[in-house]
Amino acid sequence: MLIIYGLYRWKPKQVAFRNDYCLPCGQMRRSVQVRTFNAGHIFYIPFLPFGFWKRWLGTTCGRDPHVSTKTRRGFKWAGFFILLLFSGAWFAPVEPDTQVMIWIFRLAAPVAAILTLVHLLLTKKEPSLKERLATVQPAADTICPFCGAQLLMMSSQCSCPSCGVVRN
Ligand SMILES: [Zn+2]
Ligand SMILES: [Zn+2]
Repeated sequence: MLIIYGLYRWKPKQVAFRNDYCLPCGQMRRSVQVRTFNAGHIFYIPFLPFGFWKRWLGTTCGRDPHVSTKTRRGFKWAGFFILLLFSGAWFAPVEPDTQVMIWIFRLAAPVAAILTLVHLLLTKKEPSLKERLATVQPAADTICPFCGAQLLMMSSQCSCPSCGVVRN
């Protein structure tokens, strides 16, 4: 039986904003921290209240700014070694019933392995998220980007007196 389940996110409220490096966008972006009341559902019937949760979202793409959508370099290296392994089909005996498969591996695996290696050698290692975040200027807004009110400096943090959003 197919069980439909998921998460409801109710009462979204913007609680903070910051300048951020967004990995899905590959650029410096504004991101906003949204607080929601989460509840698990089965067949759309809420049954498990998880309470209030906060998460950061890029304002441009709506994704988690610190989770990359690109294939990680490590996976590509793993792929290269798997293809090398498949290239070992040159040492496998060619038997009548498997010869088509063996020849596909013999020809395709080394070509794909070389292409993967060339790709890995030509693309340089990308700077880490930490290095990228170091280049991001902290937000310096004096006006709330959500409601336009003047932000107030309150003991080391800057927040909006109208909607309560905090500048990070
Ligand atoms: Zn983004
Ligand atoms: Zn505000």
